[in-house]
Amino acid sequence: MLGAVELGGTKCVAAIGDADGHVVAETRVPTTSVGATLGALVSFFEAQRGALGLIEAIGIGSFGPLDLDPASPRHGWITTTPKPGWADTDVAGWFRTALGVPVAIDTDVNAAALGEWRHGAARGADVVVYVTVGTGIGGGVLVHGQPLHGLVHPEIGHLRVPHDRVADPFEGVCPYHGDCLEGLASGPAMAARWGQPAETLPASHPGWELEARYLALALHNVVCTLWPQRIVLGGGVMTHAPLASRVRLALAALLGGYVQATAFLHAMDQYVVEPGLGTRSGLTGALELAARFRSGVA
Ligand code: ZN
Repeated sequence: MLGAVELGGTKCVAAIGDADGHVVAETRVPTTSVGATLGALVSFFEAQRGALGLIEAIGIGSFGPLDLDPASPRHGWITTTPKPGWADTDVAGWFRTALGVPVAIDTDVNAAALGEWRHGAARGADVVVYVTVGTGIGGGVLVHGQPLHGLVHPEIGHLRVPHDRVADPFEGVCPYHGDCLEGLASGPAMAARWGQPAETLPASHPGWELEARYLALALHNVVCTLWPQRIVLGGGVMTHAPLASRVRLALAALLGGYVQATAFLHAMDQYVVEPGLGTRSGLTGALELAARFRSGVA
């Protein structure tokens, strides 16, 4: 059996399953302090040992930023997060030490991209981008099935997008950049700009058109940089159904027909897609991380 952990800003999930993504046991806990949260997840794995046997490896998809440099003494650590108490936390080491198993780790969104590539809406695509729009905005990138790492990992949520301060005087909520993409278009940004939670804005509210515009501007930059064969858009804000179609329309207009990749760009509804695994992309990808680590692929 393999273990999977998904660490999010508001909740964390641990699961036991197999390399094909089948989950046989699962728990979720709210994200509070490091000790309480990770301690509860470790207890879950310990409690399942009797019934399910030894876990061979654990894969973690975590919010970040993370240190993923294999040569770094802080590999597997959460580094500079503004989340109180979580900066400089050795999350991979926590599970490795407590459970005595090998641990593979990547960002929550790289794991989600991996899950969608392996079992979901991005199967068969050589270059995949997964973007989540919710409490924050994050993006993962896969190239030929491998999560992209450079100096660090992609930080698509912090792209700078054109911000017309006359049309939208909102300053943005990113503690590092103010009006980066996450600062302008995350769920908390929408709530702060309009004075009510995004999910309570009616479909006719101008906030949705503005949201689609910012997301499309960011995706335009992502497309022109990476030319993925598929973009998967997940996260709580994207569950507002008309948003995805507005993003597709705005993205097509922004691209302006400059590059002819007809097989993809003429079928925008198959190019920018919702997660095939629903809210399970990250957990499924974490199982795949564990499977690869066990078999020595990663
Ligand atoms: Zn930012």
